[in-house]
Amino acid sequence: MYRSHSCGELRASHIHKTVKLSGWVQTIRDKGFVIWVDLRDRYGITQLVFDEERTSKELIDKTKKLGREFVIEVTGEVIERASKNPNIPTGEIEILVQELTILNESLTPPFTIEDDTDGGEDIRMKYRYLDIRRNPVKESLIFRHKVAMEVRKFLSDEDFIEVETPYLIKSTPEGARDFVVPSRMNEGQFYALPQSPQTFKQLLMVGGMDKYFQIVKCFRDEDLRADRQPEFTQIDCEMAFVEQEDILNIFEGLTRHLLKEIKGVTIGDFPRITFDDAMRKYGNDKPDIRFGMEFGELNAIAQHKEFGIFNDAELVVGIAIPGGASYTRKEIDKLIDWVRRPQVGAKGMVYAKYNEDGSFKSSVDKFYDQEDLAKWAAATNAKPGDLICVLSGDTTKTRAQLSALRMEIAERLGLRKSDEFAPLWVIDFPLLELDEETGHYHAMHHPFTSPKPGQLELLDTTPGDVKANAYDLVLNGNEIGGGSIRIHDKETQAIMFKHLGFTPEEAKAQFGFLMDAFQYGAPPHGGLAFGLDRLVAILGGQETIRDFIAFPKNNSGRDVMIDAPAFIDDEQLNELSLKLDIKS
Ligand code: ASP
Repeated sequence: MYRSHSCGELRASHIHKTVKLSGWVQTIRDKGFVIWVDLRDRYGITQLVFDEERTSKELIDKTKKLGREFVIEVTGEVIERASKNPNIPTGEIEILVQELTILNESLTPPFTIEDDTDGGEDIRMKYRYLDIRRNPVKESLIFRHKVAMEVRKFLSDEDFIEVETPYLIKSTPEGARDFVVPSRMNEGQFYALPQSPQTFKQLLMVGGMDKYFQIVKCFRDEDLRADRQPEFTQIDCEMAFVEQEDILNIFEGLTRHLLKEIKGVTIGDFPRITFDDAMRKYGNDKPDIRFGMEFGELNAIAQHKEFGIFNDAELVVGIAIPGGASYTRKEIDKLIDWVRRPQVGAKGMVYAKYNEDGSFKSSVDKFYDQEDLAKWAAATNAKPGDLICVLSGDTTKTRAQLSALRMEIAERLGLRKSDEFAPLWVIDFPLLELDEETGHYHAMHHPFTSPKPGQLELLDTTPGDVKANAYDLVLNGNEIGGGSIRIHDKETQAIMFKHLGFTPEEAKAQFGFLMDAFQYGAPPHGGLAFGLDRLVAILGGQETIRDFIAFPKNNSGRDVMIDAPAFIDDEQLNELSLKLDIKS
């Protein structure tokens, strides 16, 4: 037996007990006549004491050999500490050590194993197993476990069954590239790793499983944007005999359960907004509604004067920055520079100060009088003391630019509070999305999403107008999940594939198994998936998902600890019938 107690367990009530502890040496303080060692394990830190009077010379000598991160086992008596440490739960006691065994030595770690470490991100990732010994990382992993347990508990109580679906499959289109795995036994053929278990969960519905969930790894080979992982975890769900309303209710329940159990926060009804309204009011399909600054469209009240820039624009739209009227000229110029950065892409910005005395001062006073500007204020909901910022141009781009400005300002003004939770359903997404480059439509959610009843005909005339039974759950400006009611008959699915540019042969080759299954009594069904990594990060009040993943990949999709991906040798390539031109 290595230990009778953990390093986080002992209190004053244990005084005089003989105990055995095992763990890592956190710190050694050698005062000559007395040595203190902090012993750490997952549960906490316990102070060990060795002194000239009470400890044998042999043991003191052994103690002198210890170094940071050595793994040791000690037996000793719990005694009262002379100077107590109220900051840690074991701070009232220490262990007077009688026996010490060094279980393993350690090299000096490349960074300090402290809450505030001296190690940068790269070195911590390379030695992630040491990073995991640090409280912040350890706590994040434990936190993730708690969230996952609550998810399982809630869904199980709602009669969902967790079913594992395969990882070696054929492509499931979720909008990214597939990671593929060559098959040794089937020369020249490849499996794809699932971008999601989408088709399998639908087949489970045909199989009568009724309510399915799975906490599951998904793989998407995308150009990595900040804070994306090529492999990530979803809470994947599907239900049969349901309408959109049933699904929203269940997952509103799950979200409410998590916020209550994990954060102690009670949330009322979840507001809903249509995709079109979200774009109009926030320029974004995942709006953060913890603060106002809703868009005010100004076309009708700003295109009647001689100001060509506005007159030529498809959209003129503004927001009011609370308290912004006090910004100096320099501060406003900086803001203009900010919207003109290539990442945002605005050409310029018109502004109007709404002074405390009710008057206006704008950058376009030459064109607009006080009465015009008062209308802008009404449209953007500006109050005296605010700054109205106006962008104009192509609708889609201008909305995206103003949305970026809105988020930036909210960040600067501290309006995105991590202890405030504002969920929102975004519903009625378009079924299809136009790819500007190719001029083709592709499925906005995925090809199995059903159009709204009665809209199938529009596919032939105005495909961009067709709305889907698709929904996203947004929390604090982050999309944490999304799903849809599915197509469950072969004919509709065939029409969808046709509109997505598949020939009947291609559709059959890729999705014949699903179309076949639909002929054997497929029930109406739908579902959704939550991104577990992001959900955990938001609940944990952190920005990056990497902190909540035990062994994350870096921005180039590499695991720098195990050094993957890596080249494989010729023999292995041959076995897989692969030939490569590139050589290491
Ligand atoms: N498979 C979808 C996704 O991964 C979720 C769903 O439609 O249920 O985004």
